[in-house]
Amino acid sequence: MIPNAALGAHRPKRSLGQNFLHDQGTARKIAAALEPSSAHHVLEIGPGQGALTRWLRDSGCALHVLEKDGELAARLRECWPDVSVITMDALKFHWRKLHGPWRIIGNLPYNVASPIIWDLVAETPHLERGVFMIQKEVAQRLAASPGSRSYGALSVWVQSHVQVRNLFTVGPQVFHPRPKVDSAVVRFTPLQDQKRLLDPAPLRWLLPLCFQKRRKQLKNILRPFWDDTLSAWFQEQDLRPECRPENLSPRQFQDLARRLFLRRISANTAALPDS
Ligand code: SAM
Repeated sequence: MIPNAALGAHRPKRSLGQNFLHDQGTARKIAAALEPSSAHHVLEIGPGQGALTRWLRDSGCALHVLEKDGELAARLRECWPDVSVITMDALKFHWRKLHGPWRIIGNLPYNVASPIIWDLVAETPHLERGVFMIQKEVAQRLAASPGSRSYGALSVWVQSHVQVRNLFTVGPQVFHPRPKVDSAVVRFTPLQDQKRLLDPAPLRWLLPLCFQKRRKQLKNILRPFWDDTLSAWFQEQDLRPECRPENLSPRQFQDLARRLFLRRISANTAALPDS
């Protein structure tokens, strides 16, 4: 961590989800799950007081950190001039800028963890590995299987881009201040090429439509699109039209989204006046 003298009396900011990890054993274990080495480019989101940064730095990787708190960013810069410190909101970061293979890690602030993960899995051109500490319930949603209570839009979206592995749970006692919830560490590994989602736009469109009404039957949610082709698709997939969004696997969602999206586009194109 940043030496205490350099840190001064930093008051944790609740608005930025500042629950700092003070247990060195846990910090080391999380950093090790990324398997960083001098061959890697690593980006850490929310380095805070440097609990993970210190271990990442020791690995000799090319290290970049993204911190929204200007005060902490300045101190990190002062203490570790070899680390590239970017002062900005991770929600506004352009993941597409990360050319080449990148490993991304973070003990993420609870309030923005899901949107950060949503964007980075889809937009980082070549995510080599990701390790994130997040609220335990969010970790369960990320890794959830179809049919389970935790399974939802976030599960489908993330599992359409990466393989999720739940590594371990972390209790509140290792943080200062202590959060009210348990945390968990997850690891992302990219899907093999043939399983990777080529165009995320259809899925991005379909998921909110389905999961805003997750207790509704799919035949009702999809009523505006229902026809013989769609009915045949449900039969092919061995799904009843009465099933609910949580019963479809990520692959089935991807296939359904592509079909409906294409249909939407051709309907809109047909409605265009001839030039
Ligand atoms: N990595 C440190 C640790 O493990 O002790 C700090 C983790 S703390 C849970 C979250 C960190 O993310 C804080 O340093 C906070 O200032 C930073 N942060 C909060 N919101 C952010 C955002 N939108 N973009 C970038 N950093 C953010």
